[in-house]
Amino acid sequence: MEHHRPESTQAGARLTIDLAALEANWRAMARLVAPADCAAAVKADGYGLGLEAVVARLASAGCRTFFVALPTEGLRVKSLAGSATVYVLNGVVPGSADMMARTGLRPVLGSREELEDWAGVCVAAGRRLPAALHVDTGMNRLGFTMEEAADVAGRRDLLDRIDITLVMSHLACADVPDHPLTARQIERFGAVTRLFPGVPASIANSAGCHLGSALHHQMVRPGIALYGGAIFAGRPSPMRPVVRLEAPILRVRPVASGQSVGYGAAEQPDRDSRIAIVSTGYADGYHRLASSRDGHKGGHGAIEGRTVPVMGRISMDLTAFDVTDVPAAARGTMIELIGPSVPLQTAAAFMGTIDYEVLTSLGRRYERHHVS
Ligand SMILES: *Cc1c(COP(=O)(O)O)cnc(C)c1O
Repeated sequence: MEHHRPESTQAGARLTIDLAALEANWRAMARLVAPADCAAAVKADGYGLGLEAVVARLASAGCRTFFVALPTEGLRVKSLAGSATVYVLNGVVPGSADMMARTGLRPVLGSREELEDWAGVCVAAGRRLPAALHVDTGMNRLGFTMEEAADVAGRRDLLDRIDITLVMSHLACADVPDHPLTARQIERFGAVTRLFPGVPASIANSAGCHLGSALHHQMVRPGIALYGGAIFAGRPSPMRPVVRLEAPILRVRPVASGQSVGYGAAEQPDRDSRIAIVSTGYADGYHRLASSRDGHKGGHGAIEGRTVPVMGRISMDLTAFDVTDVPAAARGTMIELIGPSVPLQTAAAFMGTIDYEVLTSLGRRYERHHVS
């Protein structure tokens, strides 16, 4: 049976995902960190780009280890790449230990309770099942504290039941070069690796990969860089862009000087204007913070390289753009929302957020078009 593929005009916008660029980004990262192993963070549906396509492409490029947040995400990766190693960052989510053991998912253990849970599952299974240990070196989120880690290292009764395949930590400020917390975390992680000699170690996310080979250890876990996002905050991304988002104009309407556009009558153009209406809105992740109002510039799109500013408040399903200066703009003309003229970093900045949130909020109702 043929699948119904919605036209971009019917799905609001066309989201084009360049899988060749994704693969090139992973290969570049793998080369940078060799001989360390380059895994991939694919949580939140492959950072919003579609888990299936992302995992299939990375696996075929040679990526063997994937990090997800949740057991359910892990199951999806397993069904796509059965021989892949899949770590579940949120650990033994209450009630999930048996399922993870049965399906070969590896929890990232970060507390005494989880460690005991997993040791119990191993006893029941009659074998040592693989898992990672997560030690918190300064994030104060998930993971054993430094004191707990030292204690756990001495608990052979628990550790001997489990196959500890990785010891890891996560950097809080890697995207801000020279942040003092990073140096402290690196030092603490050194102590952690000495507690677990011979166990492969991992601390680097995308930015960590670029902070020198001392952070590569045996494995790195980049996410955002693979998807074309910025590595260091406020600096352009050196990676190949992966995402392009375009939406067709539904209609162009004249708005006379002094009239207002959209909810709240937030913006009143001070010239006779031509306003293009596009069917994308905050329900599609086109964040409302990119709205404009009198005296406050909002976000912008582009038509063939020419900037077209957002006009007024962004609605749930609609956004208005000022196309007065682009006479060719007409019903059906595509407005670029993210792409060569509106880089992901730029869109993130005018939405008041970060690349990660723009990607993971990309509309579920958009047509996702994966190309090579
Ligand atoms: C998300 C995540 C990563 C990947 O981080 P990026 O900044 O996207 O490279 C790595 N490790 C952990 C624990 C994560 O949660």
